[in-house]
Amino acid sequence: MAEITLTFPDGAKKAFEETASVADVAKSISVSLGKKAIAGKLDGALVDLTAPLKHDGAIEIITKNDPAALQVLWNTASLTLGAALKHLYPEMRFGEHAVTEHGFYYDTDNNKKPVSEDDLEAINQEMRKLVEQDGKITRKTVTKAAALAQFKDDQYKTTLLNNLDSDEVVLYHLDDFVDFGEQGVLPDTKVLKVSKLLSVAGAYWQGKSSNNMLQRVYGTAFFSEKEMEADDQRRQEAHDRDHRVIGNKLDLFFVDPKVGAGLPYWMPKGATIRRTIERYIIDKEISHGYQHVYTPVLMNLDAYKTSGHWDHYREDMFPPMDMGDGEQLELRPMNCPSHIQIYKHHIRSYRELPIRIAELGMMHRYEKSGALSGLQRVREMTLNDGHTFVALDQIQDEFKKILNLMIEVYDDFDIHDYSFRLSYRDPKNTAKYFDDDAMWNRAQKMLKGAMDELGLNYVEAEGEAAFYGPKLDVQTKTALGNEETLSTIQLDFMLPERFDLSYVGNDGEEHRPVMIHRGLVSTMERFVAYLTEMYKGAFPTWLAPVQAVIIPVKNDLHAGYAYQVRDRMIKAGLRVEVDERNEKMGYKIREAQTQKIPYSLVIGDQEIEDATVSVRHYGEEKTVAQDTNMFIDAMVAEVGNYSRT
Ligand code: ATP
Ligand code: ZN
Repeated sequence: MAEITLTFPDGAKKAFEETASVADVAKSISVSLGKKAIAGKLDGALVDLTAPLKHDGAIEIITKNDPAALQVLWNTASLTLGAALKHLYPEMRFGEHAVTEHGFYYDTDNNKKPVSEDDLEAINQEMRKLVEQDGKITRKTVTKAAALAQFKDDQYKTTLLNNLDSDEVVLYHLDDFVDFGEQGVLPDTKVLKVSKLLSVAGAYWQGKSSNNMLQRVYGTAFFSEKEMEADDQRRQEAHDRDHRVIGNKLDLFFVDPKVGAGLPYWMPKGATIRRTIERYIIDKEISHGYQHVYTPVLMNLDAYKTSGHWDHYREDMFPPMDMGDGEQLELRPMNCPSHIQIYKHHIRSYRELPIRIAELGMMHRYEKSGALSGLQRVREMTLNDGHTFVALDQIQDEFKKILNLMIEVYDDFDIHDYSFRLSYRDPKNTAKYFDDDAMWNRAQKMLKGAMDELGLNYVEAEGEAAFYGPKLDVQTKTALGNEETLSTIQLDFMLPERFDLSYVGNDGEEHRPVMIHRGLVSTMERFVAYLTEMYKGAFPTWLAPVQAVIIPVKNDLHAGYAYQVRDRMIKAGLRVEVDERNEKMGYKIREAQTQKIPYSLVIGDQEIEDATVSVRHYGEEKTVAQDTNMFIDAMVAEVGNYSRT
């Protein structure tokens, strides 16, 4: 019989029979490893415990303590979920099933009666039954043709099988249920002691919004109750931090698909936060040499044909409006062509460079409906946009200035948890990008050079560049743990070419400038989503929509003075409300905490007599009497001092 050679993690090599499985290999090492093994990895890919290994490679034995063990558990759990669903809904058809960062899911199509969260309990019980019966999962390797014949009446499975690269398919049977998927499935369900179904959400078949919507059932499983409890806590914290949950509780914004998916409405409190950021950023940029402008959201489509967006970015753009007289207007997906018009409006001299044009520019992008998420990813957004036009020899310096400005702004918002990603073009698929090899090589080198000069850490990502040039993205994490881009700086040699931009050099000749696109604090939408999650809704005083609430001990006796204090504070530029509702004082103080208002000021007889306020800071238990004027002065100073510059 033919032999194979396996290489172990310590480098040792050993020969086995070709039919040997992970279980055989584990047993050959020790009896206890034979018992503990739940799957293996051959050259990094998961393989089932009992599958013949068949070829040489690097082998790893997976036990419960291995990081990959959860993936094996979740693969097993998802098949068990499939079998439970099949029992309860014999007519159900199944889409994809997979493991995620925190569990697993199955996509289902139960035509007449889609599964909903109300059904989860019953499905869970059916899963438990299968586990208690010690359901065996058998595996059978068949040819793709045989699998296609077996699933010939199932459109979903037929499509998935046709998309497979391999000619062999492993079918897993559990009771009367059969499906295929990733390897790394346990031979029986008895390990599935601690599992839970979490939610049901709509998911388009294969992620395409033109396809029909399936119901995705999510669940998770662990080897111990303790791990499940820790995961429950993680999920609860993520939920509590989710900007959509906080946005609703604090009445900051809403998005209603009935009036427009991805089109947010900013309620007065959310609008106050946004306006404060907008004023801050405009002032900051002006003080750093930017010129702020206003330009239209609609533009002749020709501009987007010239810019290349129409060729490379059309999928993300709203369809043009045909005005009937040959003119086609486009809702802009980016502000660059607009700022180019501002640049072109005058003859520019080298003495003016760098020219920095900035705008809080509203743009529209047709994001996939499945990708929309609260304020995080929307279809109408306002970008803190800026384009700087520089001479070739100014690129590196300007790039560093932008980075330093960005870090300064991050400091003002107390943002410290972020990482840099340099995005290059995909060297294997250069056709997707603006065609100029020399430009790409030079631009990529310049960005890297500037980062190294500043001593900043970064990762390099091939294939992530914009179609017109390489970029630096600043990555942050959402409450749900997804990585999102907050800020971005992008080099562009292409648009100046396409729009024939020039400046007069000190030699009196025309020269081509280079453009740097930059979004400092992202779109107002994504930035507010990010800040809401980072602060967990407890905005610092300068950003808080209501900075202080004044609570009279007794409305009839103390409200008059409360309003006097409020008026003085408003005059000083603070955002203050009096809570004169017919509720107990303790209730109002708790309510101020729930609303995460930075200061609660209690006013009663004593305070009126002494001209003081009793101050309670958000998150603190103690209340301190302070001279009213001194308190107002201190608050004004606090609000004005957010910036260290
Ligand atoms: P992404 O990869 O997040 O889709 P992008 O690279 O297409 O973004 P840019 O054209 O660089 O985005 O847009 C500038 C910034 O606008 C991004 O860095 C991001 O912070 C923000 N942004 C992009 N798309 C959206 C959106 N749909 N909703 C909210 N903010 C967005
Ligand atoms: Zn731009």
